Amino acid sequence: MLESIYYVITWACNRVCAHCYDARFRPYPDGERSEMLARQAIQMPKIIGHFPDRLSFRDLSDQRPDGTFPMKAGRVILAGGEVLLPDVREKLLYPCLTILRDKYGRKAKTVIQTGGDLLDERVLEELLVRDVWMVSVSSMVWTSRAPLKQSRTKAVNHRLPDSSLSPKAENDPSWRRYVSSR
Ligand code: SF4
Repeated sequence: MLESIYYVITWACNRVCAHCYDARFRPYPDGERSEMLARQAIQMPKIIGHFPDRLSFRDLSDQRPDGTFPMKAGRVILAGGEVLLPDVREKLLYPCLTILRDKYGRKAKTVIQTGGDLLDERVLEELLVRDVWMVSVSSMVWTSRAPLKQSRTKAVNHRLPDSSLSPKAENDPSWRRYVSSR
């Protein structure tokens, strides 16, 4: 029995938060980024292959009148980095959702964790048709403006393709500053 699996599918992120728990979550220059995504796309089916065949748990917070507890569908929580970056969506997230659907059908629930910057109606629709059960949005935009940790990063003017930025981000010059460890 297992209630949840938390799966970090990529290190790629569009933000640079001072509070981030791992320096690998950051924007990557184009070449390094596509190489990393290709590697993660190869690893992903193998990782999901190690998930249990059944994902369910006994809900001890939902006692029945007869004193027993129901079995409920478990969850796979897909996180990054930022899983809604366009290339992460196409190369990792959507294939991942297809593999999970093939494996569990509707017997497990899929949750997407995102910062929310790239979530719009079209993306939400694309998630819903792939049976995503919940989209969890942090939306703490101000955290990406915190001072950078100079010990492990140096600022460069690395730009993601315009399509990876939300209109809000497009109008905010502070979003144009990205970080590389190079
Ligand atoms: S959005 Fe999350 S993963 Fe990305 S840098 Fe900030 S804390 Fe780290």
